[in-house]
Amino acid sequence: MEHLDTKTLQKLDAAHHLHPFNDNAVLAKKGTRILTRGEGCYVWDADGNKLLDAFAGLWCVNIGYGRKELGEAAKRQMDTLAYYNSFFQCTVEPTIELAAKLAELAPGDINHSFFVNSGSEANDTILRLVRHFWAVQDQPRKNIFIGRHNGYHGTTVAGASLGGMKGMHRQGGLPIPDIHHIEPPFWFGDGDELSPDEYGLAAAKRLEDKILELGPERVAAFIGEPIMGAIGVYIPPMTYWPEIERICRKYDVLLVADEVICGFGRTGEWFGSQYFGFQPDIMPVAKGITSGYIPLGAAMFNDRVAKVLKEQGGELAHGATYSGHPVCTAVALENLRILQEEGIVERARTEIAPYLAQRWAELGEHRLVGEARIAGMVGALELVPDKPRRTFFEERGKVGALCRDIALRNGLILRATNDSMLLSPPLVIDRAQVDELFEKAWKSLDETAAELGK
Ligand SMILES: *Cc1c(COP(=O)(O)O)cnc(C)c1O
Repeated sequence: MEHLDTKTLQKLDAAHHLHPFNDNAVLAKKGTRILTRGEGCYVWDADGNKLLDAFAGLWCVNIGYGRKELGEAAKRQMDTLAYYNSFFQCTVEPTIELAAKLAELAPGDINHSFFVNSGSEANDTILRLVRHFWAVQDQPRKNIFIGRHNGYHGTTVAGASLGGMKGMHRQGGLPIPDIHHIEPPFWFGDGDELSPDEYGLAAAKRLEDKILELGPERVAAFIGEPIMGAIGVYIPPMTYWPEIERICRKYDVLLVADEVICGFGRTGEWFGSQYFGFQPDIMPVAKGITSGYIPLGAAMFNDRVAKVLKEQGGELAHGATYSGHPVCTAVALENLRILQEEGIVERARTEIAPYLAQRWAELGEHRLVGEARIAGMVGALELVPDKPRRTFFEERGKVGALCRDIALRNGLILRATNDSMLLSPPLVIDRAQVDELFEKAWKSLDETAAELGK
């Protein structure tokens, strides 16, 4: 294939490509950055710049770029049987094997997978099947989902409704009915005088208050990300999730842990619920399941929910042409094999995460950083105007964007949400690369501070 030059590509992109989560008019003027190659923790752009990708694409490239085995697994499957569906009493071998593998990896009795193409679709699936679960047990009114303001569960109609992003709700008339939200746990933002542990319990109590307000007989499920990613890596105090679990059990509300980011090693455990020590009933997974090499998601259910769906659910009027696509499931299997056999999650937890935490804490010393939070292999730096106090910049997001652009010029990819600089590197990052990350981040913070001083 002949390569077009960068300017031509940018012109064609502006003319014909609508970008997600972008102001397309602004983007067309600036020109998109075109990425061309990846290896390990690095990517290269069309101008030849080498960038340390401290965000693993979009929280997903857990095994790092350039693992040939995944492409080979895809090719083997395409050459053998490129496609067959899971409707009409059929399915394919890698999909069965993946369902069994996921049952082995997932915590507790979460043993059943419904395959989809993305995290958003996994959440749509969960909304429909959970309401169906209650309906077939003569509780059709137990249909309300409670999520959290500023939570992120994807962009389909149900996913964006379950999420609590106001800007997303404004586009397309969301949320759909019977979805409610409570305030998220964000100690740095609203912990006031409480210790993090006290605050975790207080933040969990918001769920109990909401359930009692709505009536437990109306509440089908609570959904939350173990760590809230998109809003800025909000890591709840360790008291939060066990208390949420206790409340869900008390009122027989199903507990949905959205593991789309946390799943497959992000926290150093296989799943975020294991990091925080609670047992969900249901979990959507995607992203790290294939390390982003090919699209795949799953809605995973525990024995209780699956039993009802299987024995009383009748025909499940739900599914996609590509539910359990053999090429995607074959790639997922190969990804999970590598993660397991090479001990990548284990090594992230025992060797890399502690070192990353140490260097991240050093970044927390910078005068621009109000809080350096981290859990395993995911973290954030909260940029603040007044270091000793827990306050935010008046115009949220400007300083974060500035720092992100400076970091990019310094060869480092960090994402910015509001004024949080987000970290989520490939799990295979090594100590030398952590040092490189630290140096580039510190330099970028210095340059951002200097720019603000002007
Ligand atoms: C990315 C994400 C989703 C949506 O997944 P897509 O594959 O983008 O549809 C859902 N939940 C969480 C927590 C996510 O981070």
